[in-house]
Amino acid sequence: MAKVIAIANQKGGVGKTTTSVNLGACLAYLGKKALLIDIDPQGNATSGVGIDKGDIDQCIYDVLVDDLDARKVVHQTNVEGLSVIPSSIQLAGAEIELVPTISREVRLKRAIDQISNQFDYVIIDCPPSLGLLTINSLTAADAVLIPVQCEYYALEGLSQLLNTVRLVQKHLNTELMIEGVLLTMFDARTNLGIQVIEEVKKYFQDKVYRSVIPRNVRLSEAPSHGKPIIIYDPKSRGAEVYLELAKEVMSNG
Ligand code: ADP
Ligand code: MG
Repeated sequence: MAKVIAIANQKGGVGKTTTSVNLGACLAYLGKKALLIDIDPQGNATSGVGIDKGDIDQCIYDVLVDDLDARKVVHQTNVEGLSVIPSSIQLAGAEIELVPTISREVRLKRAIDQISNQFDYVIIDCPPSLGLLTINSLTAADAVLIPVQCEYYALEGLSQLLNTVRLVQKHLNTELMIEGVLLTMFDARTNLGIQVIEEVKKYFQDKVYRSVIPRNVRLSEAPSHGKPIIIYDPKSRGAEVYLELAKEVMSNG
């Protein structure tokens, strides 16, 4: 059975998609079978692994809303060992369309249960909200990985996220754990970055990963080429650190 990790933070632009794509690709590079599930209507993880959204007829929307078999939407990516279930803009409607449906919070979990035995890791790239798509992700996950951007107000909003995690633990998924907190877009030239690291470590203690993702221009260029960093520029600092993160995640089981 795969370990299922949801990458969640309701703030946009903190590095969820960058982390989902690159953690998935690095786990595959290290010999694990990984599945990336894009559950953000923007579909940036889908295009980030080289899938053209225009070429796709069915996606995670059809699985969640129309009970399509998840096996039918698993695509191979340009990284050996990494598969993806794509998203499309159609998914924007799912947040509302799911509201009146039966067992609306456990649809993703049921879908993953159909394919979990084919993978070592399933990584879910969540949208920037705490709506039903993120609730489905937290309900399906063994653990949540929280990217936190090294900027002023880094901790703002995290209490809402942690509160949602607690509600899911209480009502939907008692097994859900915090996999770790990942500091992203760190800039060693500023004192602010160092202060944020201290603040986040004080709050989350040993839950903070040793790997800290630096601000790295190669990481921001890679998506426009549809390639994870390990393919786009394997010698870059961004590739090195995401590989370190993948090893830390593997050491957590
Ligand atoms: P989210 O999914 O949380 O909205 P993204 O992963 O899409 O965040 O990142 C937001 C933007 O910042 C993207 O343009 C991405 O390429 C860029 N970015 C993310 N991480 C880094 C990094 N470590 N260094 C430089 N740019 C980054
Ligand atoms: Mg994103």
